[in-house]
Amino acid sequence: MSKEFEEVFSRLTVFEKNEITKNKIETAIGIIPLLLKRVSKDNVEELAAILKQSVLPSICLKTDDEIEQVFQSIDEDKNLLFDKEIQEKIKRFIEQRFERDKKVVIQRTSDISKFVALMGQYLNDAISSSGSGSKNVLNIKEKIQSIDLSSDNLLQLTNLQTELINAASSIELEMSTVSNTLQTGKTKVQELEEKINSLEKELTKTKNESMKDDLTGLLTRRAYNDEIKKIESSYKRHNTQYAVVFFDLDFFKKVNDTYGHECGDVILSTFAKILGKNTRDHDIVGRYGGEEFVAIVHFNLNRELLQYLKRIKTIVNANNFRYKEHEIKVTFSAGVAVRSDHESYDAALQKADMLLFEAKENGRNQIKLEDGKTI
Ligand code: GH3
Ligand code: MG
Ligand code: MG
Repeated sequence: MSKEFEEVFSRLTVFEKNEITKNKIETAIGIIPLLLKRVSKDNVEELAAILKQSVLPSICLKTDDEIEQVFQSIDEDKNLLFDKEIQEKIKRFIEQRFERDKKVVIQRTSDISKFVALMGQYLNDAISSSGSGSKNVLNIKEKIQSIDLSSDNLLQLTNLQTELINAASSIELEMSTVSNTLQTGKTKVQELEEKINSLEKELTKTKNESMKDDLTGLLTRRAYNDEIKKIESSYKRHNTQYAVVFFDLDFFKKVNDTYGHECGDVILSTFAKILGKNTRDHDIVGRYGGEEFVAIVHFNLNRELLQYLKRIKTIVNANNFRYKEHEIKVTFSAGVAVRSDHESYDAALQKADMLLFEAKENGRNQIKLEDGKTI
């Protein structure tokens, strides 16, 4: 065995040495076919690059100094790839890489589902937003902002976060505009409502005022005529019995002449109060003219009507009207016609007027009924 052969032989691998012994190769030239089977340096470099690629995490972008160091030494000596210790390290790197990537994937999935949940809540709050809703929306925006993505620098997810925050901001802006518009609208509607209410009140007041006589507070002749139409239709439908009573104060001109017009007014107003107080809900009293009043009195039994008439007469006769220091006796005359004894309301009214005239003719301070009765 030549020295040259020995020199080459000593640098062969265990496998190659075995092959040589097995095939009884004894010359340096005989070794060449074996050496040709060796992997080329280029191939080893390529393999090293592929290995490096495979141990670097693809999702988690954290770089690892240990991996860098190992592959730097492999770069310098490719044979290290076949070193047992280095091979163990590479194996560990690969396992670690799987672990790390798995962790990042889990983390990202949970971040995305957090985003989706928060955005859903955001939209819900935005839709059903009242004053406090927008505060909730703001909280959610802050939550989206606070999810920490910087540790892994995951560009897509960071972009998604930015987009969500932008979307939340524009919803917020939109909402505040809408709520401002609503608020303004609400105020305007409230203002209009108040205006309508006050107009309605004024209208009712004006209407009531035009229905009531200024001095006595009783129905004006016009309002009385409107009311009598309702009473007439009720009489025709339900046969609600009523009487027309015409009142006229006696010698009233004299009262005015003696005590003055203002005193006359006070007496008119007091007499109106007496009539008003004795008028039941469905009865009416109106001021027909200067010192003339007319009452519609509903009754079932004649007795009830007579009681009413007597009550008024007794009150007026038993009391004096007061004006300043004066105590003044004033009487009235009245004519009474029962509606059912006549063709129409007008006919009954005419009859009542006629009976009033008779009462005056007969000496005043009396109430004349159709049956000739005098109270
Ligand atoms: P008779 O018993 O016949 O009814 O006599 P009389 O004086 O009451 O009747 P007449 O019709 O001659 O006079 C009615 C008077 O009533 C005349 C008028 O000055 C007075 N009078 C009418 N309206 C008012 C009013 O609003 N205030 C006052 N103070 N007097 C009035
Ligand atoms: Mg008169
Ligand atoms: Mg009179």
